[in-house]
Amino acid sequence: MQSYNPEQALLNARREFGEHGGVAPSISRSATFTVMHPQIMPEIFSGLKGPEQGGCFLYSRHFNPTVDVLARYLAAMEGTESAMCTASGMAAISCAMLQLCNSGDHIVASECIYGGTHALFQSLLPQMNIATTFVDITDLAAVKTAIQPNTKVIYTETMGNPTLRIADIPALSQAARARQIKLVVDNTFSPLIFTPKTLGADVVVYSLTKYINGASDLIAGAICADKSFVQALMDLHTGRVMLLGPTMDPRVAFDIIQRIPHLPIRMREHSRRGAAMAKMLKDMGIHVIYPGLPDHPQHQKAEQLSNQGYGLGGILALDCGSREKAESLMDVLQNEESFGMIAVSLGYFDTLISCSGSSTSSEIDAAEQMKMGLSPGLMRIALGYTGDLDIRMQQMKRAVKKILL
Ligand code: PLP
Repeated sequence: MQSYNPEQALLNARREFGEHGGVAPSISRSATFTVMHPQIMPEIFSGLKGPEQGGCFLYSRHFNPTVDVLARYLAAMEGTESAMCTASGMAAISCAMLQLCNSGDHIVASECIYGGTHALFQSLLPQMNIATTFVDITDLAAVKTAIQPNTKVIYTETMGNPTLRIADIPALSQAARARQIKLVVDNTFSPLIFTPKTLGADVVVYSLTKYINGASDLIAGAICADKSFVQALMDLHTGRVMLLGPTMDPRVAFDIIQRIPHLPIRMREHSRRGAAMAKMLKDMGIHVIYPGLPDHPQHQKAEQLSNQGYGLGGILALDCGSREKAESLMDVLQNEESFGMIAVSLGYFDTLISCSGSSTSSEIDAAEQMKMGLSPGLMRIALGYTGDLDIRMQQMKRAVKKILL
């Protein structure tokens, strides 16, 4: 267990009040800001004067006061010097990678990552002459072998989507540092549970769409890193977020600011239910993948690297044997038992279920899916926390008995 306390760090972050003393911060919606003295404008453009260096805000694609409040909270939670919010998780990932990699560079990436990220590395980045080697991220020797002289980044998810492999961030960090490579970690599945920066990651990316917002009503992302990296991203002349423009709307930032305070309560409950449901399914003889089960290949590592008190998450992967069986089970769970909804995404207060191979990982071809442990019958269950847990367990039990046993 790690000793980092992200919840306390969040509490210690400078509290933001509304402009009239409101307990909630104000939403600053201005697209552009008045520069009081003309001499300051060039200094802002040359990066010398932001709001904290005696300058001021300039333009909301660059830096917005409300969005900046959220960024400060996220940086505190992640233990990074700074953070930058983006319009989506994919925007965070693509901007961070394009900031770190140029034409001719190479990435070593986990094969067990979100389908959209896989497609970015596999199909889009090669068009910019950036190549990727996909590896089993839990095989450190394979990671080291894949590193080339032009490798700039090792990329992984802390808890891989959807087969829930746990990356050994300290070991990966050591391998990366030995070769002057940056370690970029997507922690979308496990906020608070893991704090990748304190384990050695250089850059932490998020889809805030999932747990951190928690209401499935908006799309958002973030990049948490050192001040110098965030400044590079927002550099007015060269920064990838500045030039590609995936700006977060201040109203979106405000909504997330209002939900971050109850993230710890939500994560604990997602995890409590994940552990109970996984154990029940395992006891029924079902092939279930959950990092909190002792038979999970990285169970010990997950226990060792996680922060105390948040459990190991609310996502289970259940191997139903075939896509047809998985679809039948999802049908019963949604339409007979009202256990959850057939929908992609995760981190919602209600349960979302999907068959990963034919949905969120469908960008990955069949052979590669098998290699990453993703069978066609693998059903991802992103547990919510509504309803009585005992009743939810009975609903699941009945559905599984009907379709799988
Ligand atoms: N990272 C992970 C692990 C995801 O599961 C997803 C989406 O499912 C993303 C990133 C992309 O996030 P967004 O939909 O906010 O762009």
